[in-house]
Amino acid sequence: MLDLLGSTKRTAYAGELDLKDKGKEVSLLGWVHRRRDMGNLIFIDFRDVSGIVQVVFNPENGVQLLSKAHHLRNEFVIAVTGIVYPRIQNTINPNMKTGEIEVSATGLKILNDTKPLPIQLDENLQSDEDLRLQYRYLDLRREKLRDNIILRHKIILSMRNFLDRHNFYEIETPILMKSTPEGARDYLVPSREYPGKFFALPQSPQMYKQLLMIAGFDRYFQFARCFRDEDLRADRQPEFTQLDLEISFATQSQIFDIVEQMFKEVFAKTINKHIQIPFPRYTYDDVMTRFGTDKPDLRFEMELKDISDIVKNSEFRVFSEAIKNGGSVRCINAKACGNYSRNKIDELERIAKHLGGKGLARMKVENNDLVDNIAKFLSKEERNAIIKRTSAKENDLLLFVADKNNIVFKVLGELRNHLAKKLGLINEDLFKFLWVTDFPLFEWDDENNKWETAHHMFTMPADEDVHYLDEPENYGKIKGQLYDLVCNGMELSSGSIRCHRVDIQRKIFNVIGITGEELERRFGFFLKAFDYGAPPHGGIAPGIDRIVMLMTKSDSIRDVIAFPKTLKAKDLMSDAPAQVEQKQLEELGIKII
Ligand code: ASP
Repeated sequence: MLDLLGSTKRTAYAGELDLKDKGKEVSLLGWVHRRRDMGNLIFIDFRDVSGIVQVVFNPENGVQLLSKAHHLRNEFVIAVTGIVYPRIQNTINPNMKTGEIEVSATGLKILNDTKPLPIQLDENLQSDEDLRLQYRYLDLRREKLRDNIILRHKIILSMRNFLDRHNFYEIETPILMKSTPEGARDYLVPSREYPGKFFALPQSPQMYKQLLMIAGFDRYFQFARCFRDEDLRADRQPEFTQLDLEISFATQSQIFDIVEQMFKEVFAKTINKHIQIPFPRYTYDDVMTRFGTDKPDLRFEMELKDISDIVKNSEFRVFSEAIKNGGSVRCINAKACGNYSRNKIDELERIAKHLGGKGLARMKVENNDLVDNIAKFLSKEERNAIIKRTSAKENDLLLFVADKNNIVFKVLGELRNHLAKKLGLINEDLFKFLWVTDFPLFEWDDENNKWETAHHMFTMPADEDVHYLDEPENYGKIKGQLYDLVCNGMELSSGSIRCHRVDIQRKIFNVIGITGEELERRFGFFLKAFDYGAPPHGGIAPGIDRIVMLMTKSDSIRDVIAFPKTLKAKDLMSDAPAQVEQKQLEELGIKII
Protein backbone atom coordinates (compact mmCIF):
# COMPACT_ATOMS: atom_id res chain seq x y z
CA MET A 1 0.00 0.00 0.00
CA LEU A 2 2.88 2.42 0.68
CA ASP A 3 4.09 4.45 -2.29
CA LEU A 4 7.36 6.19 -2.93
CA LEU A 5 7.42 9.89 -3.65
CA GLY A 6 8.77 9.23 -7.17
CA SER A 7 8.49 12.28 -9.37
CA THR A 8 5.61 13.80 -7.39
CA LYS A 9 6.44 17.41 -6.60
CA ARG A 10 4.64 19.82 -4.34
CA THR A 11 3.04 22.61 -6.36
CA ALA A 12 1.19 24.36 -3.52
CA TYR A 13 0.97 24.66 0.24
CA ALA A 14 -2.39 23.79 1.76
CA GLY A 15 -2.84 26.83 3.97
CA GLU A 16 -2.15 29.25 1.12
CA LEU A 17 -4.88 28.05 -1.23
CA ASP A 18 -7.89 30.28 -1.76
CA LEU A 19 -10.49 31.30 -4.32
CA LYS A 20 -7.92 32.72 -6.70
CA ASP A 21 -6.65 29.15 -7.21
CA LYS A 22 -10.07 28.08 -8.50
CA GLY A 23 -9.75 25.46 -11.24
CA LYS A 24 -6.04 24.88 -10.68
CA GLU A 25 -4.59 21.42 -10.37
CA VAL A 26 -2.37 21.23 -7.28
CA SER A 27 -0.12 18.62 -5.70
CA LEU A 28 0.06 18.70 -1.93
CA LEU A 29 2.50 16.89 0.35
CA GLY A 30 1.73 16.45 4.01
CA TRP A 31 -0.42 14.68 6.60
CA VAL A 32 -3.98 13.50 7.04
CA HIS A 33 -5.07 15.77 9.84
CA ARG A 34 -8.58 14.38 10.20
CA ARG A 35 -10.69 12.08 8.10
CA ARG A 36 -14.43 11.64 7.66
CA ASP A 37 -15.30 8.51 5.74
CA MET A 38 -18.91 8.57 4.55
CA GLY A 39 -18.64 5.40 2.46
CA ASN A 40 -18.73 6.72 -1.08
CA LEU A 41 -17.43 10.14 -0.12
CA ILE A 42 -14.31 10.71 1.94
CA PHE A 43 -13.26 14.07 3.33
CA ILE A 44 -9.88 14.72 4.78
CA ASP A 45 -8.46 17.78 6.42
CA PHE A 46 -5.07 17.82 4.78
CA ARG A 47 -2.26 19.49 6.75
CA ASP A 48 1.19 20.79 5.98
CA VAL A 49 3.34 23.42 7.68
CA SER A 50 1.26 26.24 6.22
CA GLY A 51 -2.13 25.05 7.46
CA ILE A 52 -5.09 22.91 6.50
CA VAL A 53 -7.27 22.43 3.44
CA GLN A 54 -10.20 20.10 2.87
CA VAL A 55 -9.67 17.38 0.27
CA VAL A 56 -12.59 15.34 -1.07
CA PHE A 57 -12.43 11.91 -2.61
CA ASN A 58 -15.54 11.09 -4.60
CA PRO A 59 -16.50 8.21 -6.89
CA GLU A 60 -16.60 10.43 -10.03
CA ASN A 61 -12.81 10.55 -9.94
CA GLY A 62 -12.50 6.75 -9.98
CA VAL A 63 -13.44 3.96 -7.64
CA GLN A 64 -9.83 2.85 -7.37
CA LEU A 65 -8.85 6.22 -5.94
CA LEU A 66 -11.75 6.05 -3.52
CA SER A 67 -10.86 2.58 -2.35
CA LYS A 68 -7.27 3.68 -1.76
CA ALA A 69 -8.54 6.64 0.23
CA HIS A 70 -10.48 4.24 2.46
CA HIS A 71 -7.12 3.16 3.85
CA LEU A 72 -6.23 6.64 5.05
CA ARG A 73 -5.99 7.21 8.77
CA ASN A 74 -5.12 10.31 10.79
CA GLU A 75 -1.44 11.29 10.51
CA PHE A 76 -0.72 9.16 7.42
CA VAL A 77 1.78 10.96 5.17
CA ILE A 78 0.38 11.46 1.68
CA ALA A 79 0.85 13.12 -1.67
CA VAL A 80 -2.46 14.19 -3.10
CA THR A 81 -3.26 15.77 -6.42
CA GLY A 82 -6.55 17.49 -7.13
CA ILE A 83 -8.47 20.43 -8.53
CA VAL A 84 -9.32 23.47 -6.41
CA TYR A 85 -13.07 24.19 -6.33
CA PRO A 86 -15.06 26.85 -4.54
CA ARG A 87 -17.22 25.26 -1.88
CA ILE A 88 -20.94 25.50 -2.32
CA GLN A 89 -22.52 28.19 -0.23
CA ASN A 90 -23.74 26.20 2.77
CA THR A 91 -20.49 24.24 3.12
CA ILE A 92 -18.26 27.31 3.42
CA ASN A 93 -16.39 27.20 6.71
CA PRO A 94 -15.77 30.76 7.96
CA ASN A 95 -13.58 29.44 10.82
CA MET A 96 -11.05 28.03 8.45
CA LYS A 97 -8.58 30.16 6.50
CA THR A 98 -9.11 27.98 3.44
CA GLY A 99 -12.80 27.49 4.25
CA GLU A 100 -14.07 28.89 0.94
CA ILE A 101 -12.50 26.16 -1.17
CA GLU A 102 -11.77 22.47 -1.26
CA VAL A 103 -9.57 20.21 -3.35
CA SER A 104 -11.26 17.46 -5.31
CA ALA A 105 -8.72 14.63 -5.35
CA THR A 106 -7.64 13.10 -8.64
CA GLY A 107 -4.59 11.20 -7.36
CA LEU A 108 -3.25 9.84 -4.08
CA LYS A 109 0.00 8.33 -2.88
CA ILE A 110 0.31 7.02 0.64
CA LEU A 111 3.93 7.81 1.52
CA ASN A 112 3.87 6.50 5.06
CA ASP A 113 1.47 5.16 7.63
CA THR A 114 1.58 5.61 11.38
CA LYS A 115 1.14 3.68 14.57
CA PRO A 116 -1.68 4.91 16.80
CA LEU A 117 -0.46 8.19 18.30
CA PRO A 118 0.54 8.14 21.98
CA ILE A 119 -0.79 11.68 22.48
CA GLN A 120 -3.85 13.65 21.44
CA LEU A 121 -3.20 16.35 18.85
CA ASP A 122 -6.58 17.96 19.38
CA GLU A 123 -6.06 21.46 20.86
CA ASN A 124 -8.97 20.91 23.22
CA LEU A 125 -7.99 17.46 24.43
CA GLN A 126 -4.41 17.91 25.47
CA SER A 127 -2.61 14.92 26.92
CA ASP A 128 -0.51 15.03 30.05
CA GLU A 129 2.45 17.40 29.58
CA ASP A 130 5.13 14.83 30.41
CA LEU A 131 3.80 12.56 27.71
CA ARG A 132 3.65 15.44 25.26
CA LEU A 133 7.28 16.34 26.03
CA GLN A 134 8.29 12.74 25.50
CA TYR A 135 6.70 12.88 22.03
CA ARG A 136 7.58 16.49 21.40
CA TYR A 137 7.86 16.02 17.61
CA LEU A 138 4.18 15.01 17.63
CA ASP A 139 3.13 17.74 20.03
CA LEU A 140 4.80 20.26 17.71
CA ARG A 141 2.29 19.25 15.04
CA ARG A 142 -0.37 21.08 17.03
CA GLU A 143 -1.35 24.34 15.40
CA LYS A 144 -0.71 26.49 18.46
CA LEU A 145 2.81 25.18 19.06
CA ARG A 146 3.68 25.27 15.39
CA ASP A 147 2.48 28.87 15.15
CA ASN A 148 4.51 29.82 18.24
CA ILE A 149 7.71 28.37 16.80
CA ILE A 150 7.14 30.02 13.44
CA LEU A 151 6.39 33.36 15.07
CA ARG A 152 9.58 32.96 17.10
CA HIS A 153 11.48 32.66 13.83
CA LYS A 154 9.83 35.81 12.49
CA ILE A 155 10.56 37.77 15.65
CA ILE A 156 14.23 36.79 15.58
CA LEU A 157 14.49 37.56 11.89
CA SER A 158 12.90 40.93 12.34
CA MET A 159 15.24 41.81 15.23
CA ARG A 160 18.23 40.72 13.19
CA ASN A 161 17.18 42.86 10.23
CA PHE A 162 16.58 45.85 12.46
CA LEU A 163 19.97 45.56 14.15
CA ASP A 164 21.77 45.02 10.87
CA ARG A 165 20.24 48.25 9.57
CA HIS A 166 21.42 50.01 12.72
CA ASN A 167 25.07 49.05 12.22
CA PHE A 168 25.25 46.15 14.67
CA TYR A 169 27.53 43.21 13.91
CA GLU A 170 26.36 39.71 14.75
CA ILE A 171 29.30 37.98 16.41
CA GLU A 172 29.39 34.54 18.01
CA THR A 173 31.18 33.97 21.28
CA PRO A 174 32.36 30.68 22.79
CA ILE A 175 30.11 28.14 24.46
CA LEU A 176 33.04 26.44 26.14
CA MET A 177 34.43 29.16 28.31
CA LYS A 178 35.49 30.28 31.73
CA SER A 179 32.70 30.83 34.21
CA THR A 180 30.83 34.12 33.68
CA PRO A 181 28.82 34.75 36.79
CA GLU A 182 25.23 35.99 36.48
CA GLY A 183 24.22 34.83 39.93
CA ALA A 184 23.33 31.24 39.07
CA ARG A 185 25.14 27.92 39.29
CA ASP A 186 27.30 27.01 36.28
CA TYR A 187 26.89 24.02 34.04
CA LEU A 188 30.37 22.56 33.93
CA VAL A 189 32.10 20.66 31.15
CA PRO A 190 35.09 18.56 32.18
CA SER A 191 38.21 18.83 30.06
CA ARG A 192 39.82 15.64 28.75
CA GLU A 193 43.09 17.36 27.85
CA TYR A 194 43.39 18.94 31.28
CA PRO A 195 42.06 16.47 33.84
CA GLY A 196 40.53 18.15 36.85
CA LYS A 197 39.86 21.33 34.89
CA PHE A 198 36.50 22.47 33.60
CA PHE A 199 34.90 24.76 31.11
CA ALA A 200 31.68 26.44 32.16
CA LEU A 201 28.79 26.96 29.77
CA PRO A 202 28.01 30.67 29.51
CA GLN A 203 25.42 32.05 31.92
CA SER A 204 25.60 34.87 29.39
CA PRO A 205 28.27 36.18 27.00
CA GLN A 206 28.68 39.21 29.29
CA MET A 207 32.46 39.35 29.46
CA TYR A 208 32.92 38.52 25.79
CA LYS A 209 30.61 41.29 24.65
CA GLN A 210 32.51 43.77 26.76
CA LEU A 211 35.77 42.48 25.29
CA LEU A 212 34.29 43.01 21.82
CA MET A 213 33.75 46.66 22.74
CA ILE A 214 37.36 46.92 23.87
CA ALA A 215 38.27 45.29 20.54
CA GLY A 216 36.52 48.20 18.83
CA PHE A 217 33.44 46.60 17.24
CA ASP A 218 31.24 49.45 18.46
CA ARG A 219 27.87 47.65 18.17
CA TYR A 220 27.45 43.92 18.73
CA PHE A 221 24.55 41.53 18.95
CA GLN A 222 24.01 37.81 19.12
CA PHE A 223 21.13 35.45 19.73
CA ALA A 224 22.98 33.86 22.58
CA ARG A 225 22.16 30.61 24.31
CA CYS A 226 22.63 31.01 28.05
CA PHE A 227 22.87 28.21 30.59
CA ARG A 228 21.96 28.61 34.24
CA ASP A 229 21.65 25.76 36.66
CA GLU A 230 18.97 27.15 38.94
CA ASP A 231 15.55 26.24 40.24
CA LEU A 232 13.10 26.52 37.39
CA ARG A 233 9.78 28.34 37.19
CA ALA A 234 7.09 28.79 34.57
CA ASP A 235 9.18 31.40 32.76
CA ARG A 236 12.64 29.84 33.23
CA GLN A 237 14.56 27.11 31.49
CA PRO A 238 18.09 25.84 32.19
CA GLU A 239 19.05 26.93 28.70
CA PHE A 240 17.42 29.94 27.15
CA THR A 241 18.05 32.52 24.47
CA GLN A 242 18.89 36.17 24.86
CA LEU A 243 19.25 38.85 22.26
CA ASP A 244 22.55 39.95 23.70
CA LEU A 245 23.65 43.41 22.62
CA GLU A 246 26.28 45.95 23.49
CA ILE A 247 27.06 49.48 22.32
CA SER A 248 30.22 51.52 22.77
CA PHE A 249 30.08 55.14 23.95
CA ALA A 250 26.42 54.59 24.79
CA THR A 251 24.31 56.46 27.28
CA GLN A 252 21.36 54.83 29.00
CA SER A 253 18.97 56.89 26.88
CA GLN A 254 20.59 55.75 23.64
CA ILE A 255 20.19 52.13 24.66
CA PHE A 256 16.54 52.71 25.59
CA ASP A 257 15.96 54.43 22.30
CA ILE A 258 17.40 51.62 20.17
CA VAL A 259 15.54 48.94 22.12
CA GLU A 260 12.24 50.83 21.95
CA GLN A 261 12.53 51.33 18.20
CA MET A 262 13.37 47.69 17.74
CA PHE A 263 10.37 46.52 19.80
CA LYS A 264 8.09 48.89 17.93
CA GLU A 265 9.24 47.54 14.58
CA VAL A 266 9.16 43.89 15.64
CA PHE A 267 5.65 44.12 17.10
CA ALA A 268 4.34 45.91 14.04
CA LYS A 269 5.98 43.56 11.53
CA THR A 270 5.27 40.27 13.22
CA ILE A 271 1.94 40.60 15.03
CA ASN A 272 0.71 43.85 13.53
CA LYS A 273 0.55 45.50 16.95
CA HIS A 274 1.36 49.16 17.31
CA ILE A 275 3.08 49.89 20.56
CA GLN A 276 3.62 53.29 22.02
CA ILE A 277 7.19 54.55 22.41
CA PRO A 278 9.04 55.89 24.32
CA PHE A 279 8.27 53.51 27.18
CA PRO A 280 7.60 55.22 30.51
CA ARG A 281 10.50 55.21 32.95
CA TYR A 282 10.15 54.52 36.65
CA THR A 283 12.81 54.36 39.29
CA TYR A 284 13.16 51.22 41.34
CA ASP A 285 11.98 53.05 44.47
CA ASP A 286 8.97 54.29 42.59
CA VAL A 287 7.79 50.90 41.34
CA MET A 288 8.41 49.23 44.68
CA THR A 289 6.37 51.76 46.62
CA ARG A 290 3.60 51.96 44.05
CA PHE A 291 3.32 48.33 42.96
CA GLY A 292 5.32 46.31 45.48
CA THR A 293 7.48 44.75 42.78
CA ASP A 294 10.25 45.68 40.36
CA LYS A 295 8.26 44.12 37.52
CA PRO A 296 4.85 45.70 37.80
CA ASP A 297 1.94 44.95 35.55
CA LEU A 298 0.68 48.37 34.46
CA ARG A 299 -2.43 47.09 32.70
CA PHE A 300 -4.39 47.85 35.85
CA GLU A 301 -4.10 50.27 38.78
CA MET A 302 -4.65 49.10 42.36
CA GLU A 303 -1.53 50.88 43.60
CA LEU A 304 -0.17 50.32 47.10
CA LYS A 305 -0.81 53.12 49.60
CA ASP A 306 1.48 53.78 52.52
CA ILE A 307 -0.52 54.57 55.66
CA SER A 308 2.42 54.35 58.08
CA ASP A 309 2.20 58.05 58.96
CA ILE A 310 -1.50 57.66 59.83
CA VAL A 311 -1.09 54.66 62.13
CA LYS A 312 2.39 55.08 63.55
CA ASN A 313 1.02 55.89 67.01
CA SER A 314 -2.05 53.75 66.70
CA GLU A 315 -3.41 51.80 69.64
CA PHE A 316 -3.50 48.91 67.25
CA ARG A 317 -0.13 47.45 68.13
CA VAL A 318 0.17 45.24 65.05
CA PHE A 319 0.42 48.44 63.02
CA SER A 320 2.38 50.72 65.33
CA GLU A 321 4.89 48.02 66.30
CA ALA A 322 5.63 47.16 62.67
CA ILE A 323 6.56 50.79 62.09
CA LYS A 324 8.64 50.99 65.26
CA ASN A 325 10.54 47.95 64.07
CA GLY A 326 11.58 49.78 60.92
CA GLY A 327 8.79 48.44 58.72
CA SER A 328 5.66 50.01 57.33
CA VAL A 329 1.92 49.56 56.96
CA ARG A 330 0.54 49.63 53.45
CA CYS A 331 -2.63 48.59 51.75
CA ILE A 332 -4.36 47.97 48.47
CA ASN A 333 -7.94 48.66 47.57
CA ALA A 334 -9.85 45.76 46.07
CA LYS A 335 -12.62 47.82 44.58
CA ALA A 336 -16.20 46.67 45.09
CA CYS A 337 -15.04 43.54 46.93
CA GLY A 338 -16.62 44.47 50.26
CA ASN A 339 -18.88 41.43 50.01
CA TYR A 340 -16.02 39.00 49.44
CA SER A 341 -16.95 35.63 50.95
CA ARG A 342 -15.11 34.13 53.89
CA ASN A 343 -13.62 31.57 51.49
CA LYS A 344 -12.19 34.19 49.20
CA ILE A 345 -10.74 36.14 52.11
CA ASP A 346 -9.21 32.93 53.45
CA GLU A 347 -7.59 32.35 50.08
CA LEU A 348 -6.03 35.83 50.15
CA GLU A 349 -4.81 35.20 53.67
CA ARG A 350 -3.27 31.90 52.63
CA ILE A 351 -1.37 33.64 49.84
CA ALA A 352 -0.14 36.30 52.27
CA LYS A 353 1.11 33.69 54.72
CA HIS A 354 2.69 31.60 52.02
CA LEU A 355 4.73 34.65 51.03
CA GLY A 356 5.99 35.14 54.55
CA GLY A 357 3.35 37.58 55.84
CA LYS A 358 2.06 37.12 59.36
CA GLY A 359 -1.49 37.66 58.23
CA LEU A 360 -3.74 39.96 56.30
CA ALA A 361 -5.73 42.70 58.00
CA ARG A 362 -8.78 44.02 56.18
CA MET A 363 -11.60 46.51 56.40
CA LYS A 364 -14.44 47.40 54.10
CA VAL A 365 -16.22 50.67 53.46
CA GLU A 366 -19.77 50.89 54.73
CA ASN A 367 -21.70 54.14 55.18
CA ASN A 368 -18.53 56.19 54.69
CA ASP A 369 -16.74 54.39 57.50
CA LEU A 370 -14.40 51.42 57.71
CA VAL A 371 -15.91 48.35 59.30
CA ASP A 372 -15.09 44.71 59.81
CA ASN A 373 -12.06 42.80 61.02
CA ILE A 374 -9.62 45.34 62.52
CA ALA A 375 -11.84 48.44 62.27
CA LYS A 376 -12.69 48.42 65.97
CA PHE A 377 -9.02 48.81 66.89
CA LEU A 378 -8.61 52.04 64.96
CA SER A 379 -9.83 55.48 65.93
CA LYS A 380 -12.38 57.36 63.86
CA GLU A 381 -9.66 59.84 62.75
CA GLU A 382 -7.43 57.00 61.65
CA ARG A 383 -10.26 55.36 59.73
CA ASN A 384 -11.19 58.62 58.03
CA ALA A 385 -7.61 59.36 57.07
CA ILE A 386 -7.25 55.86 55.58
CA ILE A 387 -10.42 56.30 53.49
CA LYS A 388 -9.05 59.57 52.22
CA ARG A 389 -5.57 58.19 51.45
CA THR A 390 -6.97 55.23 49.54
CA SER A 391 -9.88 57.07 47.88
CA ALA A 392 -11.97 54.10 48.99
CA LYS A 393 -15.65 54.07 48.08
CA GLU A 394 -18.69 52.27 49.44
CA ASN A 395 -18.21 48.48 49.41
CA ASP A 396 -14.47 48.62 48.64
CA LEU A 397 -12.27 46.14 50.46
CA LEU A 398 -8.95 47.38 51.88
CA LEU A 399 -6.22 44.83 52.53
CA PHE A 400 -3.36 45.75 54.87
CA VAL A 401 0.07 44.34 55.56
CA ALA A 402 2.21 45.59 58.46
CA ASP A 403 5.72 44.20 58.46
CA LYS A 404 9.28 44.75 57.29
CA ASN A 405 9.20 46.51 53.95
CA ASN A 406 10.37 43.56 51.90
CA ILE A 407 7.50 41.41 53.21
CA VAL A 408 4.95 44.22 52.82
CA PHE A 409 5.96 44.70 49.18
CA LYS A 410 6.12 41.02 48.39
CA VAL A 411 2.70 40.23 49.84
CA LEU A 412 0.82 43.25 48.50
CA GLY A 413 2.59 43.06 45.13
CA GLU A 414 1.47 39.45 44.71
CA LEU A 415 -2.05 40.09 46.00
CA ARG A 416 -2.37 42.94 43.56
CA ASN A 417 -1.59 40.58 40.67
CA HIS A 418 -3.76 37.83 42.06
CA LEU A 419 -6.77 40.08 42.56
CA ALA A 420 -6.43 41.68 39.15
CA LYS A 421 -6.67 38.24 37.55
CA LYS A 422 -9.56 37.16 39.75
CA LEU A 423 -11.46 40.39 39.20
CA GLY A 424 -10.88 40.41 35.45
CA LEU A 425 -9.08 43.77 35.54
CA ILE A 426 -6.50 42.79 32.94
CA ASN A 427 -6.98 43.75 29.31
CA GLU A 428 -5.16 40.91 27.58
CA ASP A 429 -4.77 42.93 24.37
CA LEU A 430 -2.54 45.54 25.95
CA PHE A 431 1.24 45.56 26.05
CA LYS A 432 2.34 47.87 28.84
CA PHE A 433 6.08 48.34 28.64
CA LEU A 434 8.17 50.27 31.14
CA TRP A 435 11.77 50.84 32.07
CA VAL A 436 12.83 50.46 35.66
CA THR A 437 15.99 52.40 36.52
CA ASP A 438 18.15 53.36 39.49
CA PHE A 439 18.32 49.95 41.12
CA PRO A 440 20.60 49.59 44.11
CA LEU A 441 23.99 48.31 42.96
CA PHE A 442 24.36 45.94 45.90
CA GLU A 443 21.99 43.84 47.96
CA TRP A 444 22.74 42.40 51.35
CA ASP A 445 22.78 38.62 51.25
CA ASP A 446 21.48 37.48 54.65
CA GLU A 447 22.30 33.86 54.06
CA ASN A 448 26.00 34.41 53.36
CA ASN A 449 26.28 37.57 55.41
CA LYS A 450 27.83 39.62 52.63
CA TRP A 451 27.10 42.14 49.90
CA GLU A 452 26.11 40.83 46.49
CA THR A 453 25.56 42.74 43.27
CA ALA A 454 21.89 43.25 42.43
CA HIS A 455 22.41 42.69 38.69
CA HIS A 456 25.93 41.66 37.86
CA MET A 457 29.35 42.78 38.91
CA PHE A 458 30.19 44.70 35.74
CA THR A 459 27.73 47.53 36.28
CA MET A 460 28.86 51.13 36.73
CA PRO A 461 27.63 52.87 39.88
CA ALA A 462 25.74 56.14 39.47
CA ASP A 463 28.35 58.89 38.99
CA GLU A 464 27.38 60.64 42.20
CA ASP A 465 27.63 57.42 44.25
CA VAL A 466 31.06 56.23 43.11
CA HIS A 467 32.69 57.68 46.22
CA TYR A 468 30.56 55.43 48.45
CA LEU A 469 32.58 52.49 47.17
CA ASP A 470 35.20 53.58 49.72
CA GLU A 471 32.64 53.76 52.56
CA PRO A 472 31.42 50.32 53.66
CA GLU A 473 28.63 51.84 55.74
CA ASN A 474 27.22 53.37 52.55
CA TYR A 475 27.40 50.41 50.16
CA GLY A 476 23.64 49.96 50.45
CA LYS A 477 23.07 53.53 49.24
CA ILE A 478 24.86 53.11 45.93
CA LYS A 479 22.61 53.17 42.91
CA GLY A 480 23.72 51.34 39.80
CA GLN A 481 23.46 52.50 36.21
CA LEU A 482 21.31 49.50 35.51
CA TYR A 483 17.86 49.04 34.11
CA ASP A 484 15.21 46.46 33.44
CA LEU A 485 12.69 46.34 30.66
CA VAL A 486 9.33 45.09 31.92
CA CYS A 487 6.09 44.35 30.12
CA ASN A 488 2.77 43.16 31.58
CA GLY A 489 4.44 42.07 34.80
CA MET A 490 7.24 40.16 33.11
CA GLU A 491 10.92 41.10 33.28
CA LEU A 492 12.01 40.99 29.65
CA SER A 493 15.60 42.06 30.07
CA SER A 494 18.24 43.59 32.23
CA GLY A 495 21.15 45.70 31.19
CA SER A 496 23.55 48.31 32.39
CA ILE A 497 26.21 50.84 31.64
CA ARG A 498 29.42 48.97 32.41
CA CYS A 499 32.46 49.78 34.47
CA HIS A 500 35.00 50.67 31.83
CA ARG A 501 37.36 52.01 34.50
CA VAL A 502 39.37 49.24 36.00
CA ASP A 503 39.86 51.04 39.34
CA ILE A 504 36.09 51.20 39.86
CA GLN A 505 35.65 47.61 38.70
CA ARG A 506 38.24 46.43 41.24
CA LYS A 507 36.44 48.25 44.03
CA ILE A 508 33.19 46.51 43.12
CA PHE A 509 34.90 43.15 43.27
CA ASN A 510 36.26 44.18 46.63
CA VAL A 511 32.77 45.02 48.00
CA ILE A 512 31.45 41.58 47.07
CA GLY A 513 34.51 39.91 48.53
CA ILE A 514 36.32 38.80 45.39
CA THR A 515 39.90 39.85 45.96
CA GLY A 516 43.53 38.80 45.79
CA GLU A 517 44.35 35.46 44.22
CA GLU A 518 40.69 34.59 43.57
CA LEU A 519 40.17 37.82 41.66
CA GLU A 520 43.22 37.25 39.51
CA ARG A 521 42.38 33.62 38.86
CA ARG A 522 38.77 34.24 37.90
CA PHE A 523 38.83 37.66 36.32
CA GLY A 524 42.48 38.57 35.77
CA PHE A 525 42.25 38.12 31.98
CA PHE A 526 39.20 40.36 31.87
CA LEU A 527 40.57 43.13 34.06
CA LYS A 528 43.80 43.15 32.08
CA ALA A 529 41.87 44.08 28.94
CA PHE A 530 40.67 47.28 30.60
CA ASP A 531 44.27 48.51 30.81
CA TYR A 532 44.37 48.91 27.05
CA GLY A 533 41.98 51.66 26.06
CA ALA A 534 38.55 50.37 27.05
CA PRO A 535 35.78 52.64 25.72
CA PRO A 536 32.74 53.46 27.85
CA HIS A 537 30.02 51.00 26.90
CA GLY A 538 26.71 49.52 27.92
CA GLY A 539 24.13 47.05 26.78
CA ILE A 540 21.20 44.86 27.49
CA ALA A 541 19.97 41.36 26.78
CA PRO A 542 16.24 40.90 26.07
CA GLY A 543 15.10 37.34 26.73
CA ILE A 544 13.76 35.89 23.51
CA ASP A 545 11.74 33.12 25.11
CA ARG A 546 9.88 35.55 27.36
CA ILE A 547 9.27 37.95 24.49
CA VAL A 548 7.75 35.15 22.44
CA MET A 549 5.67 34.09 25.46
CA LEU A 550 4.38 37.61 25.74
CA MET A 551 3.61 37.97 22.05
CA THR A 552 1.91 34.58 21.79
CA LYS A 553 0.14 35.00 25.16
CA SER A 554 1.62 31.73 26.37
CA ASP A 555 1.63 30.89 30.07
CA SER A 556 4.53 28.49 29.86
CA ILE A 557 8.01 29.05 28.45
CA ARG A 558 7.85 25.45 27.20
CA ASP A 559 5.24 26.51 24.67
CA VAL A 560 7.68 28.75 22.81
CA ILE A 561 10.79 26.53 22.71
CA ALA A 562 10.92 23.67 20.21
CA PHE A 563 12.59 21.19 22.55
CA PRO A 564 12.29 22.43 26.13
CA LYS A 565 13.21 20.78 29.39
CA THR A 566 10.84 19.99 32.24
CA LEU A 567 10.65 21.98 35.45
CA LYS A 568 13.09 19.43 36.81
CA ALA A 569 15.59 20.29 34.03
CA LYS A 570 15.13 17.04 32.15
CA ASP A 571 14.72 16.32 28.45
CA LEU A 572 12.02 13.67 28.55
CA MET A 573 12.24 12.92 24.85
CA SER A 574 15.87 11.80 24.81
CA ASP A 575 15.96 11.07 28.53
CA ALA A 576 18.83 13.46 29.19
CA PRO A 577 20.75 13.90 31.40
CA ALA A 578 21.83 10.30 31.04
CA GLN A 579 24.58 8.02 32.19
CA VAL A 580 27.73 7.89 30.10
CA GLU A 581 30.14 5.05 29.39
CA GLN A 582 32.63 4.18 32.08
CA LYS A 583 35.36 4.71 29.48
CA GLN A 584 34.28 8.31 28.94
CA LEU A 585 34.48 8.97 32.64
CA GLU A 586 37.92 7.43 32.83
CA GLU A 587 39.15 9.58 29.96
CA LEU A 588 37.97 12.62 31.88
CA GLY A 589 39.46 11.40 35.14
CA ILE A 590 36.02 11.45 36.78
CA LYS A 591 34.80 9.03 39.41
CA ILE A 592 31.12 8.97 40.38
CA ILE A 593 30.73 8.80 44.13
N1 ASP B 1 24.36 39.72 30.80
C1 ASP B 1 23.20 40.33 31.37
C2 ASP B 1 22.17 39.30 31.75
O1 ASP B 1 22.24 38.17 31.32
C3 ASP B 1 22.56 41.31 30.44
C4 ASP B 1 23.33 42.55 30.28
O2 ASP B 1 23.73 43.16 31.29
O3 ASP B 1 23.51 42.97 29.12
O4 ASP B 1 21.23 39.62 32.47
